Amino acid sequence: MKISIFCVFIFCISITHQNSTAQAEFRAAAAKVDISPANGVSLDGSISKNGPVTSIHDPIHARALVLESDSTRIAIVICDLCMAGREVFDHAKQLIQQKTNSKIPVSNILIAATHTHAAPRAIHIGKKPIDDEYHRLLAEKIAAAVIQANSQLAPARIGYTSFEKPKLIACRRFLCKPGTVGPNVFGETGERIKSVAGTSSGVIEPAGPTDPQFSVLSVQNLAGKPICVLGNFSVHYCGGYKRGAVSADYFGYFSEAIETNLRSRQADPQVPDVIGIMSNGTSGNTGAFRKSAGQKFSAFEAMLFYGRMLAMDAIKTLEQISYQNDPTIQIIERELQLKVRRPDKNRLAWSEKVLAGPRSKWPHRWSKIYADEAQHLSKYPESVSLKLQAIRIGDIAIASCPCEVFAETGLEIKKQSPFKKTFTIELANGYGGYLPPRKQHELGGYETWPARSSFLEVDAEEKIRLKLLSMLEELKR
Ligand SMILES: [Zn+2]
Repeated sequence: MKISIFCVFIFCISITHQNSTAQAEFRAAAAKVDISPANGVSLDGSISKNGPVTSIHDPIHARALVLESDSTRIAIVICDLCMAGREVFDHAKQLIQQKTNSKIPVSNILIAATHTHAAPRAIHIGKKPIDDEYHRLLAEKIAAAVIQANSQLAPARIGYTSFEKPKLIACRRFLCKPGTVGPNVFGETGERIKSVAGTSSGVIEPAGPTDPQFSVLSVQNLAGKPICVLGNFSVHYCGGYKRGAVSADYFGYFSEAIETNLRSRQADPQVPDVIGIMSNGTSGNTGAFRKSAGQKFSAFEAMLFYGRMLAMDAIKTLEQISYQNDPTIQIIERELQLKVRRPDKNRLAWSEKVLAGPRSKWPHRWSKIYADEAQHLSKYPESVSLKLQAIRIGDIAIASCPCEVFAETGLEIKKQSPFKKTFTIELANGYGGYLPPRKQHELGGYETWPARSSFLEVDAEEKIRLKLLSMLEELKR
């Protein structure tokens, strides 16, 4: 009896599902808004001294993709920023929810930074009035990109493919022989890593893998006209900037090349044209392998080479994609509480000594920066909450977190995900700093040194990875 009731129940669900599938209409649209800052806005981080803005080499944008199926509407926005704080993104999300009459609620929005270093770090709010003003405008412009796409939704189809580009990526952390790495910024010895800071005469090998996968998410209208091509790759940035100049780096050149090459010859003013978007996967420990093509680049040239090459490769794959007309869309987000590596009494005493003392006493050329960072971190709370997201679009999945993620984490998520077509987006929905796995913390190096750019507990990577995997499993059910 129980079984027959259960069967009837399942039968009813099945009919309901078939009906809703038959009526489902997948719709999509994309748009971009220029977010280039005014002269004077800060481009500085504590180590990269790039700003204030004096010129725009190439404009930076917020690029939005809005997708809808079965009345679930989501937005994915990728911004040409070094990073952005949760306050800025949350402000943008509130505006989007409000201006779309909650058709796109706050919980259905992913906003991430690309990590071009030649763009503002929209995070240390209160630094200067001009920065605060830019952060406010930024949130409004991010929202404007989504609102524009939202007003252009049209029947569409979506598909995914990927290819590999191993020669364009290098791990930037090197494992060295014991005793060959100099003292770290705190004067401690015994580290095994040479990274962006430090020297060693005993380099053995790269300290981690790279993820050479280039993911392509393609959205077209039902006649096959491109609406959006969203790329995802795992290179920190290309660089080769000039001080004070704003640039979207290779992320911008990729997007521009997609738009130039796929644009309709006879563009219909009533039909929005294609938008290119480039997102960053896991770039915490990987750099661009600029000389891989045997070429030398002057300022701003490497990014052009990278961006255009990747766009042409992505375009070549579009024909092999099989598209879905009625994908299920789901997005879930969870808050994860993580402890902060605040300085202890000894570190604070060291910090005060360094800040009061002469340069000749510093153990490392960046010691004063890290002494200052220790003071900032001492004001951080004991723990912070990070927003994690998992998105399902048919048989495609996206996992995101606010950190600069190491390649091994992304590779593991892709390997363990119940969705074969999975990619990750970092620096999403806020800023959580570098995310070295515990093993990398034990080896040391720049990315592990406590600062506002690396402040989460040593086990944060494992906790975030496992949480994201459980969220992907939840989407599969
Ligand atoms: Zn960086």
